Amino acid sequence: MTCRGPARARRGGELSELEVLPDAAVLIDGSRIAWVGPRKEARSLHSGFEEVEVHGILFPGFVDCHTHAVFGAPRLDDHERRALGASYQQIAAAGGGILQSVRDVRSRTESELLALTRSRLLALRAHGSTTIEVKSGYGLELESELKQLRVIRRLAESDRLQLVPTFLGAHEVPSEYRPHRSEYVRLIIEEMLPVVARERLARCCDVFCEPGVFDLAETRAILMAARGAGLDLKLHADELEGSEGAVLAAELGALSADHLAGISDAGIRALGASETVAVLLPATMSFLGRRRQAPARRLIEANAAVALATDFNPGSSPTPGLPFVMSLAVSQLGMRHAEAVLAATVNSAAALGVAVDRGQIAPGFVADLVACNITDWREMAYWVGANLVTDVWTAGSACPPPSPPVSLGTHVEA
Ligand SMILES: [Zn+2]
Repeated sequence: MTCRGPARARRGGELSELEVLPDAAVLIDGSRIAWVGPRKEARSLHSGFEEVEVHGILFPGFVDCHTHAVFGAPRLDDHERRALGASYQQIAAAGGGILQSVRDVRSRTESELLALTRSRLLALRAHGSTTIEVKSGYGLELESELKQLRVIRRLAESDRLQLVPTFLGAHEVPSEYRPHRSEYVRLIIEEMLPVVARERLARCCDVFCEPGVFDLAETRAILMAARGAGLDLKLHADELEGSEGAVLAAELGALSADHLAGISDAGIRALGASETVAVLLPATMSFLGRRRQAPARRLIEANAAVALATDFNPGSSPTPGLPFVMSLAVSQLGMRHAEAVLAATVNSAAALGVAVDRGQIAPGFVADLVACNITDWREMAYWVGANLVTDVWTAGSACPPPSPPVSLGTHVEA
């Protein structure tokens, strides 16, 4: 399964064109792929290579283009309250929601957060994700936002995890700024963004654009400042009610507009006519128990580039597995198996601006590979919730099994 083709987001009919090579070989030179083709040809064309036999099916490493992986404790009380019928507002009023994770992250040391995040990211990798976007956004004050971004940087340097850091200071308005929210927007623009940019702690800037969180004018102001500081743009857009966030994302040339369950017809047209990738997060709506999902088919028919991600976070999507998200894409979004695979590789790489050399098994691409114990590639989206990944390579080297075994909760030694 190569996903070979143009090094950019796929749209429309291209999204169901997958190259499957039976009995194939991949030649790796250093950190990059040198050649891919029939195994017989590899033997006659090349010699002197160390051979590794792979059983099952080889995929390009999956690209998880939307996670909030730096957090403290899981939010089990929220989960239980929601099961009992509590609304988002009732959960927030009872001390839960995003602001609970904010209090938690503010109170932890950088090394504690590093240990927790490391274990969780290794869990994502064990499910086949080799390039992972990670957002800040549980600090909501300068020092705590920087603390999260430093954790991401240190992990990117130490564990051969390919991480794309995103600054999400505009995830929510913190309690202390609720009476004068414009002051918080000013703080992000004038105090946080300049430091994040100067210390090169983030590649992208994201805003939660939604009624009751940040409105269109605030989102625009923050993103214009972020672009001025040299960051690429992403948006949490039209997740629940919708506020034309997708239209704004397309207008600003953002890399992606994410969520989109409440996208308007104008938003669908705008994404179809733009380079902005529509990132769909079906695990989130499933976990929240919502019936409504993003209109994937209408987006694909409108020629939008659709990608998939986990939205891994403690409040609304505590799943580490992109293959599970592919299953949901088929069963809940009506996507074809081929579309789901390309949406979690080539198109999610485009949503991070790295499609030039990630998301394909093709010459010149970074040698990120995932071996799965299956015989038909469609099984990837079929065995719901199973982890079929047997081996992972990043930048040409085999990843050892995590030691100690990964933990998603808080039983991790700092
Ligand atoms: Zn998110």
